[in-house]
Amino acid sequence: MTLSTGRSASATSTWATSAYAPASPATRRSGAGLAASNPGTEPGQHRYGAAATFDDARAAFALAWQKLAATRTDADYQAWRDHRDWTMWKYRMHDLHLPLPTQRPDGVARCFCGEAITSATMDDHVLGAHRSIEQ
Ligand SMILES: [Zn+2]
Repeated sequence: MTLSTGRSASATSTWATSAYAPASPATRRSGAGLAASNPGTEPGQHRYGAAATFDDARAAFALAWQKLAATRTDADYQAWRDHRDWTMWKYRMHDLHLPLPTQRPDGVARCFCGEAITSATMDDHVLGAHRSIEQ
């Protein structure tokens, strides 16, 4: 699970579990809102709510997360990690102004590590050579 928080503009505190993973796996608490991305969660499975205080929102969030987490599998968590690692790799390629194979006329690009990659080899390369890279 990734937990993130943010300050709400309203007087209430809000919480949500969501299918959409933020780019960073960092966990932080800094305001009156709570949100979490859940591995394997499909759109429509999210839960949300509002409470009068941050502590009430935190308690409601914790209960919702506990119920949802009990339905997640190891494959769900692995799919989330794969997506996270692939996204971090893609952002690093973008930040270094390196094209992806699909952005090259010949379909061959070079990873920042120096490896030649194609659309057919890119996923295996990223998930095999670049696990848990940081920006
Ligand atoms: Zn590489």
